[in-house]
Amino acid sequence: MTAQVIDGKALAAKLKDEMHTQVAELKQQCGRAPGLAVIIVGNDPASHVYVKNKKIACEKVGITSFASELPEETTQEHLLGLIADLNQNPRVDGILVQLPLPAHMDADKVLNAIASDKDVDGFHPYNVGCLAVRQPELRSCTPYGCMKLLETTGVDLHGKEAVVVGASNIVGRPMALELLLAGATVTVAHRFTENLQSHIERADIVIAAAGKQGLIQGEWIKEGAIVIDVGIHRLEDGSLTGDVDFEAASKHAGWITPVPGGVGPMTITMLLANTISAFKNHVGLS
Ligand code: NAD
Repeated sequence: MTAQVIDGKALAAKLKDEMHTQVAELKQQCGRAPGLAVIIVGNDPASHVYVKNKKIACEKVGITSFASELPEETTQEHLLGLIADLNQNPRVDGILVQLPLPAHMDADKVLNAIASDKDVDGFHPYNVGCLAVRQPELRSCTPYGCMKLLETTGVDLHGKEAVVVGASNIVGRPMALELLLAGATVTVAHRFTENLQSHIERADIVIAAAGKQGLIQGEWIKEGAIVIDVGIHRLEDGSLTGDVDFEAASKHAGWITPVPGGVGPMTITMLLANTISAFKNHVGLS
């Protein structure tokens, strides 16, 4: 079998086109565009690239972005004050704090200070809890993007064996909740999991989000399985790769996402989708 490659870049472009039209209509109807505030603290070059890409994506669909670039030595108190102001700002529908934060800050405390109705990253315990009790509101962007990628296969997820590799708060855990909500039988593997191979071998759906380059060997993949690779690793030559051995896995999987061009573009796209949802909630349209 040779897997069909799921094109996240193309899907993201299509969804952004649709959002562009939707935002223009909302702006006309409500007199303002959705607004996203992006906060970055410190000088991490990769984080600055992510923030720049988020600003460009906002502009492309017509969302207003407000950037706050704070120096490394910013106090947590100052950051919490800024978040409190943005929570009250009626032009701001979404607030995003770019991670990682400097070591002197408590990231959980900072993220929990964002009003849950403006938590467009979907990281707030309230929003993760809503997903857990099957009443999703703002959904974590990467898992939400993975669900959109799975949708393109047309495969009914009910009763399927899904294995999520990784159990972080921002990817693995909400991913497992998404798959459960979709009716899959879900296993979550993590750093203490024994015999990962045996779990992967019976999976109809593999979500690889361990952050370990090449962890998932191609020969482990069940014939016809769907493989979504969340991992991102930069190689010495500057190219990107994932947690899955793409070449070998493609010989067994039915569908597979590439790195780059799979999950990555969908994460930003779902951030925009969440910002539009938050806007609609704020103006009373949902
Ligand atoms: P994390 O380090 O917070 O969590 C990794 C998880 O993997 C942990 O739960 C850990 O227990 C588990 N793990 C580690 N080694 C394992 C092993 N050998 N077997 C099974 N589980 C193992 O990472 P994260 O923030 O969840 O990100 C994971 C990966 O996804 C990273 O490569 C990150 O760069 C990438 N990522 C990509 C996107 C995107 O938009 N494409 C978004 C977020 C994260």
